[in-house]
Amino acid sequence: MTDLFIGGQWTEAIDQRTREIRCPADGTLVAVVDEGGAKDAAEAVAAARQAFDQGPWPRTPAATRGDLLLRVADLLERDRAELARAESLDTGKRLAESELDIDDVAACFRYYGRLVRTEVDREVDTGLEHAVSRVVHEPVGVCALITPWNYPLLQTSWKVAPALAAGNTFVLKPSELTPSTAIALMRLLAEAGLPGGVANLVLGPGAEAGAPLTDNPDVDMVSFTGGLRTGRRIMAAASGTVKRTSLELGGKNPNVVFADADFETAVDYALTAVFLHSGQVCSAGARLLVEDSLHDAFVDEVVRRARGIRLGGPFDERARTGPLISAAHRSKVEAYVAAGIAEGARLRCGGTRPDDPALRDGFYYLPTVLDECHSGMSVLADESFGPVLTVERFASEDEAVRLANDTIYGLAGAVWSGDEGRAQRVASRLRLGTVWINDYHPYLPQAEWGGFKQSGTGRELGPSGLAEYREAKHIWRNTRPRPQGWFA
Ligand code: NAD
Repeated sequence: MTDLFIGGQWTEAIDQRTREIRCPADGTLVAVVDEGGAKDAAEAVAAARQAFDQGPWPRTPAATRGDLLLRVADLLERDRAELARAESLDTGKRLAESELDIDDVAACFRYYGRLVRTEVDREVDTGLEHAVSRVVHEPVGVCALITPWNYPLLQTSWKVAPALAAGNTFVLKPSELTPSTAIALMRLLAEAGLPGGVANLVLGPGAEAGAPLTDNPDVDMVSFTGGLRTGRRIMAAASGTVKRTSLELGGKNPNVVFADADFETAVDYALTAVFLHSGQVCSAGARLLVEDSLHDAFVDEVVRRARGIRLGGPFDERARTGPLISAAHRSKVEAYVAAGIAEGARLRCGGTRPDDPALRDGFYYLPTVLDECHSGMSVLADESFGPVLTVERFASEDEAVRLANDTIYGLAGAVWSGDEGRAQRVASRLRLGTVWINDYHPYLPQAEWGGFKQSGTGRELGPSGLAEYREAKHIWRNTRPRPQGWFA
């Protein structure tokens, strides 16, 4: 096996360890891949460092880099079916969703390819006759890109595309659970003509293959998407050499429904918000906040429809959602629900594994609704990252805002109301990186993505996504140099 990609060469892990990748939907063996560790990570950083310091990529004109990204987008579209299948086998996600993910990956490469081609230096007015000044952008250097398992290639593209557009070199460390599309991406980057050493891939667990990237002095930047606890660790590790860090962490996202919202639409989206991909979405609408007068009817309807959600594997076309990623993750979700019930939440549906024998070999968990939740419960504080909806009620606009903001997270959320003024007012008071009004989950590559508060420090997508991977340099030129005479 040669699944690591270092210095333009496919190579095996130095310690020759391997890992079995199994589909979480039924346990079938998907692949056996190399499992790297600290030594592989060090080699990958050395290759990226050399490519940055001596290779052509950082000095390649931005327009040429943009052209390469556009070629990668074409290759992603060419291999769409194969990539989507690989993503679904690794994650257990419905094939139709993986196909949309691959479209979004190609769109991300296309967006940054085009953006970087149209950029110009900024001239600054010095106010002086004898001096001109301009601001240019340069790559940060060697970037460690560390990504999670829920949207493996999509989260990777949000880092790889702007990092390459800006002229960086990188070491990618995908989740150990979902490496397949990262391996495929390396092949496509090479096919598109990326010079050796610019893109490097290390596989393996976070503590062994990821952590050594985060304190290596030759790494200039760590861009991480994953859980809050890991994010804190990475921030601390990176502080030793004052690396730039871009952190995209968890969310505990409020979905706020006022009584004047369109009932059918708000119910429908409340379900999609939390049960899409079995809740394994950073922006999942896991906290439903409903106005008192609407509460009973709204929650009854959400529960009725949640009970009817069909679970199944990636290729079951009638399934609406799939398994959790692993047995360990399902145990975490189970413990979370048990804690909520122990704290006084009312279990309205789910709260257990399905009894369908056809699902026995997968890590399934039924869509679950916990009603009568209130401030102070751990079930409202922690991210479950599973198909679990908590319900709170509110009596006024002020109370809705106060409850929605009563969390250490600040990633995303929604407000539902037929009153445009109220919707805008509430949206502006929510301390969230993304707020949807009468909608849930859409995003745009040309807009921004990132969390307030402990949801992270990073900005992805849009022009800010490119800015994350660049240094701004001010160049001042004296056009008429002559002695000043101060110390004459
Ligand atoms: P995780 O933090 O367990 O792992 C993420 C990545 O970090 C993996 O590649 C892992 O191997 C690596 N890692 C683990 N420990 C490390 C260490 N000490 N040093 C370096 N790397 C290490 O997260 P996960 O379970 O893979 O993903 C789920 C989490 O990701 C959720 O909290 C979710 O909200 C978050 N997420 C956030 C966004 C966003 O845009 N904000 C998007 C997707 C997922």
